[in-house]
Amino acid sequence: MLFVNLKQIWEIFAEKTKNGKQIEVCGYLASRTNIERMLPKCNSEQPFNFNSNDHRELVPIICGVETSEDRASCSHYPTIYNSYDSIIWHTHPNNSKSYPSVEDIIKMLKPRPNPNPMDSLIICRWGIWEFNAKNKKTVDMSKMEPLLKYYLEQIGIVAFKEWKRITGKTDENEYRNNRINLTKNILDKINEIIFKLKTKLHTFDFNIHFTSWESLEESPYYILKNLNENEL
Ligand SMILES: [Zn+2]
Repeated sequence: MLFVNLKQIWEIFAEKTKNGKQIEVCGYLASRTNIERMLPKCNSEQPFNFNSNDHRELVPIICGVETSEDRASCSHYPTIYNSYDSIIWHTHPNNSKSYPSVEDIIKMLKPRPNPNPMDSLIICRWGIWEFNAKNKKTVDMSKMEPLLKYYLEQIGIVAFKEWKRITGKTDENEYRNNRINLTKNILDKINEIIFKLKTKLHTFDFNIHFTSWESLEESPYYILKNLNENEL
């Protein structure tokens, strides 16, 4: 069991969007044993402290903060390194999707000279997405792109539909600018869609989980679903 305080990332990120600018933040999750390796790779200071003495606690390292009026996109490493470390994370700004993009998923499917990235987390307004592929292999983009686009867009469609049903409103801009109430109905539908996606990607040994902020309740800690301490 590996765990990490992700609420602090979200709170800092949400704070920074108050001036109306959209921010994407990205980085790695580091343990006590690998943090020294990651900091120079990221060109980063360590922004967060370990909160416990438990060796299974991870802390987020920030590799980049991108600000833009419209679409901000953040890079994980300076070009000289040209490789990822084990666990990557990034935020999706409030005006962006509250679920992974096609590129986010494809990044995890592609084979590389080492097994990294081994796990990917997206921190967004709805909560936390975690996904990985343990059997990475060459992707046929002409087939994969439309398939992923279809399933990921379904997540957006069911959420918008449910929001319209609950609020009686129809304005898509208003929907985008508000935190939607993730009812059991929406969560069930999200889980149905990601189950189908997992099935479609079974040859990649693909796994995906969604955890809403509500379900973390009082705890700031998120427990990783795809990796444990022996795999790091
Ligand atoms: Zn993304």
